[in-house]
Amino acid sequence: MTKTNKLRCLSNTGRYFSILSPPSNPPTSHALRNKITARLHSQHLPLSTVQAQTFHTYNTNTITLFKTIHNLKLYPTILSFSWRLLHKTLHFYLHLYCPFCHQTLLNSLHFFSTCPVISTLLLTQSSLSNLLSPPHHKEKTLFTLITLWAIWKLFTRETHEGPLPNDARSKVLQTITSNKLSRVKLAHSQHDVTS
Ligand SMILES: [Zn+2]
Repeated sequence: MTKTNKLRCLSNTGRYFSILSPPSNPPTSHALRNKITARLHSQHLPLSTVQAQTFHTYNTNTITLFKTIHNLKLYPTILSFSWRLLHKTLHFYLHLYCPFCHQTLLNSLHFFSTCPVISTLLLTQSSLSNLLSPPHHKEKTLFTLITLWAIWKLFTRETHEGPLPNDARSKVLQTITSNKLSRVKLAHSQHDVTS
């Protein structure tokens, strides 16, 4: 295979490829897929500097975590939220302060792990750090993501509808968490999502 230009003339800067001598026994699609997968797995994920620093801090096995989330078959809205969280595109900088504790430096770590108000409302602690820290089991990843999703939903609700008292916040978090967990488990009862 060699590079050519549009006129099929050999050119190192050409944008096209020309197969000069096709193999007599072309590889099977299975072999091609394996080769592409092995090549992809041998390369580092293209992460932003901030992403790489965050994953390094928590010793995250990025490929395993991403693969676990991919295989969870979450609701599209929760899956979309999960990727936006991991790719740091939830745009917290658009908000001036945390709606729960009123701290002004709002970022994903504060919001999902260290906010003192949210921490007291949750049964588990440090949700985001729990998600990012190995091992990345399906059950732990599923539960943590649903909890993070519940916090996100509470945040958007209070942003649009105003602050709630703490007992109402607690109820919202518990309702969303148990509702979504049971729905996901029911929807995937044919699949082993909890092992
Ligand atoms: Zn806060």
